[in-house]
Amino acid sequence: MDKEKIEIIGDNHIGFSVDTPMVAGAFDKTDDQKITAIQHHFGKIMEELGLDLTDDSLSGTPYRFAKMYVKELFYGLNPSNKPKLSVFENKYGYNKLLVEQNITIDSSCEHHFLPITGHAHIGYVPKEKVIGLSKINRLVDYYAHRPQVQERLSMQLLKDLQNILDTEDVIVMITTKHLCVSSRGIKDKDSFTTTLEYGGCFKNDRKREEFLGILQHVAL
Ligand SMILES: [Zn+2]
Repeated sequence: MDKEKIEIIGDNHIGFSVDTPMVAGAFDKTDDQKITAIQHHFGKIMEELGLDLTDDSLSGTPYRFAKMYVKELFYGLNPSNKPKLSVFENKYGYNKLLVEQNITIDSSCEHHFLPITGHAHIGYVPKEKVIGLSKINRLVDYYAHRPQVQERLSMQLLKDLQNILDTEDVIVMITTKHLCVSSRGIKDKDSFTTTLEYGGCFKNDRKREEFLGILQHVAL
């Protein structure tokens, strides 16, 4: 891909598929094998930048960096880390809107590998199944901990929750700040980005307004 096209895709934050693009055999190596390989390569990047890796302050950075990538920032790439999402029978027959709001988003943009931070707000109208509230937070945390495009993150959460809850009646709103917009390029410190994905009853304007009305009472 030529360099101009690379810049355009990054600045427009274009993503190409709902599934995170992964190669076959992405998890053939263990986490420890990946950490060892990334440690080596990141050390080379630091050397290319002219940094002295024999300095006491810098010598541990390639290992810290590699461990942070595999075990923390991008743990959500590995399906074996997906949280167990047990659902329960909706015994009390609750069939109105339920909103879990201000769920922390700690993610990274896949075009620049810089932080995306903010909140997700998720609503659903239960049918036969309900889910433990903290499970929604765990699912957001899992999908956020990948190199991401915000639009894809919203769609992955919507589709997964629709499957788990066995209903189309789910809405996902995400509001974030992207460091690649605030700290490089245009360097806009104040703008933020909102995405809204929904299905089922939320295609109805009034149902969507009910959800958005609840969110108006919280700091985004
Ligand atoms: Zn970016």
